Amino acid sequence: MATLSTSGRSAFLHGQWSVGDSTALYGVADWGKGYVGVTNEGHITVMPGKDPGRQINLHEVIDGLRERGIHTPVLLRFNDLLTHRLREIRKAFDDAITEQQYNAGYACVYPIKVNQQRHVCEQIASLGVELGFGLEAGSKPELLAVLGLSATAGGPGVNGMPIICNGFKDDEFIETVTLATKLGRNIIPVVEKFTELELIVKHAKAYGVRPRIGLRVKLSARGAGRWESSAGVRSKFGLFMSEVLKAVDYLKAHGMLDCLNLLHCHVGSQLYDIRVFKNAVNELAHVYCELKKLGAGLSMLDIGGGMGVDYDGSQSACSSSINYTVAEYARDVVYRIKSVCDSANVEHPMIVSESGRAMVAYSSVLIVDVLGASRFESHPDLDAIEAMVRGEVAAGNEVPQPILDLLDAYRSLTDRNIMETYHDATQARDEALSLFSLGYMTLAMRAAAEQIFWALCHRILERAGKRGEIPDELTALPELLSDIYFCNFSLFQSMPDSWAIDQLFPICPIHRLNEQPTRQAILADITCDSDGKVDHFVDKREDKKTLELHDLRTDEHGGSEPYYLGVFLLGAYQEILGDLHNLLGDTHAVHLKLSDPAAGGTGWEIDEVIEGDTVEEVLSYVQYDVPDLKRAMRLDVEAACRQGRLTLSEGKSLLKYYDDGLEGYTYLEG
Ligand code: PLP
Repeated sequence: MATLSTSGRSAFLHGQWSVGDSTALYGVADWGKGYVGVTNEGHITVMPGKDPGRQINLHEVIDGLRERGIHTPVLLRFNDLLTHRLREIRKAFDDAITEQQYNAGYACVYPIKVNQQRHVCEQIASLGVELGFGLEAGSKPELLAVLGLSATAGGPGVNGMPIICNGFKDDEFIETVTLATKLGRNIIPVVEKFTELELIVKHAKAYGVRPRIGLRVKLSARGAGRWESSAGVRSKFGLFMSEVLKAVDYLKAHGMLDCLNLLHCHVGSQLYDIRVFKNAVNELAHVYCELKKLGAGLSMLDIGGGMGVDYDGSQSACSSSINYTVAEYARDVVYRIKSVCDSANVEHPMIVSESGRAMVAYSSVLIVDVLGASRFESHPDLDAIEAMVRGEVAAGNEVPQPILDLLDAYRSLTDRNIMETYHDATQARDEALSLFSLGYMTLAMRAAAEQIFWALCHRILERAGKRGEIPDELTALPELLSDIYFCNFSLFQSMPDSWAIDQLFPICPIHRLNEQPTRQAILADITCDSDGKVDHFVDKREDKKTLELHDLRTDEHGGSEPYYLGVFLLGAYQEILGDLHNLLGDTHAVHLKLSDPAAGGTGWEIDEVIEGDTVEEVLSYVQYDVPDLKRAMRLDVEAACRQGRLTLSEGKSLLKYYDDGLEGYTYLEG
C-alpha cells in the first residue's frame, strides 16, 4: 500500500480549504526560503528582501503588465532579490570569518555563464564594488563582456574588481588578458592546460607585465550529482599534480614564481552534499600549503562554484535539493581552510568562490497562462450509453460482453470491492480492445468501453483516496487519469534543464490559492514536441508525477478566465541554455523593483521591459529574408485574387495577418 501524502490526500478530501493549505501543498515556504509568500486572498507574492512588509503581488503585476500590452509568457526578474542574495552570501562569509578569527577576506566572482543578461551582470558588477565581489569569464566573448562591465569598478591594480578567466584560452585571449593587466585590471587567467602557462609567460615578457596567474588543479576528491565529472583526475579541466609541480619549476625558471597567486578547483554544480565541499576544500588547501612552501606567491584560494539551490525544499542530499545552508557552507569552507593552513603554519589565503547558481537562481520567475485542458471524462453519460446498448438489442444486434461487464462493474462498485472491480474492469477493457482490433466491435462501442473504464478508474481512485491509502496496483492511476494543462510557453526556451537533465523547478498557480485545487494535472507546452511537457513536480516527500491545479473557469462573457502558473527559481542557466525549438523565441522579460521608501513608495515599480523576440527576429536567426517572404506571399495572394480563389478583402486580410504576425510575439496571444 502507498500511503497518501498530505498533498495527495488533499486532492481527495473536501474540507474547509485555506490559504495555509495551499502554502503547504505547494511547499511555498520550503523552496521559497523567505522570498515567496501567499496573501490572504490567495495570491503569490515575492518578498525581494525577505521582508513581509514589502511584497510584490505577482497577479497584480501580470494584470498591470497586461494593461500595458505585455502578455504572458513573461519572465519577471527581481532586482532587489538579487541584491539581497548577494548580501546574504557576503554576510555568511563575513560572519564565518569573524567567528573563526580567519585572517583574510572573501570574494565571490560571479561566473557570467550562469546568466549573461546585461541587466543581471551590470547589477552584480555595480554591487561588486560595494561587496568586494568580481566576475568570472569562461570564454572569449565572456572575457570581452566582463572587461567592459568592470571598466570603472574598484580602481586600477589589485584593489580593482577581481576578474577570473577560466576555460580554454588561445594566444589572442592571453594577449588580451596581459594587456588588460597593463591597463590596470585585477585579472587572473587560470591555467587549465600547461600550454596556456607558456603563453602567459611569453606575453608577460613581451609586454613587460607581472601577471597574476592562477592554476586549476585536478583533485582526487570527486564531485557528486550531475556534474560529478567536473572534478577528479578524469576531469576535462585542470592540471595533474605532476603538471602543477612542473608549472612551479617553469615559473621559477622564468623568475615568475611570485606571480602564481591563485589556486583553483571546481568540483561541479548543484553539489547537494556538503561533505563533497569539505573533502575538496580540504585537499585543495593542502595543495595550497605545499605550493606555498615551495615558494609560490600564492594568496588566493578559489574553491569554484557548486553551491546549490534547494529546488524542492526538502533540504536533503538529492539532486533537486541541498543538505546545507549558505551559512553552513561558508562556515565549513572557512573552517577547513583555516585548520589546514594553521597546521601547516601557512598564512590564511583570501577565499574566492565562483557561486553562480546560488547567486541568481531565485531572482527570476516565469509566468505562463494556461490555454486549456484535456481530460478524461469522469462522469460519462451513462444514460446515453445504456440507450445505445438498448438500441443495439432492439435492432437484434449482439452487445459485446465487455460492454455489459463494464456497465455492471461501474454500477456495483462499493468500498469493499474496489480491487475486485478494478480487476474485472481492466479485463473487460482489454477484451473490448481485442474485439475492436479483430473487427468485432464498432467504434461507438469501443468509445463507450473506454469512457466507462476511465470513469470507473476515477471512482475507484476517489474511494481508495478517501480511505487514505492507495493499493500498490493503483499507484499509476493518478498519473494516467490526470489532466493535461496546455501552457503558453516553450519548455525548451524557458526551462531547458527540465527537458535535458530532468531538473525540477517549483511550479504553482499564482492566484486562487484560497480555493482547493480539485484537478491533478501534468503540463504541456506549445511546442510540437511530445517532450515539451512537465510531468515531475517538486515535493518534499515523494516523487510527485502530477500537480494539483484548479478547474479552469469561464468569465462573465463566456470566455475563459485567465489562469496563471508561476515557474520559480529559473534565474540560473535557463535563459542562456534555452533554444528556439519551433521558433519560439525569448519571452518578454520585466525587471521589477521595490519603490523607494525614501520617496514615499511602498509598492513596486517596473524598472525595465525587455521585449521578447518577434517572429521576424526568430526567422532572421535562421537566415530568412523577411522582405522576400512578404514579397512571395503578396504575389501568391495577388494571383489568388486574380483567379477568384480569394476576394480582394480576404486577400487584404490575409496579408495584414501575415505582416502583423511577423511583427508580433512568437507565443500565443489571447
Ligand atoms: N566555476 C566554474 C569553473 C564552473 O565550471 C561553473 C559551472 O559549472 C561555475 C563556476 C558555477 O557553478 P555554480 O553555478 O554551480 O555555482
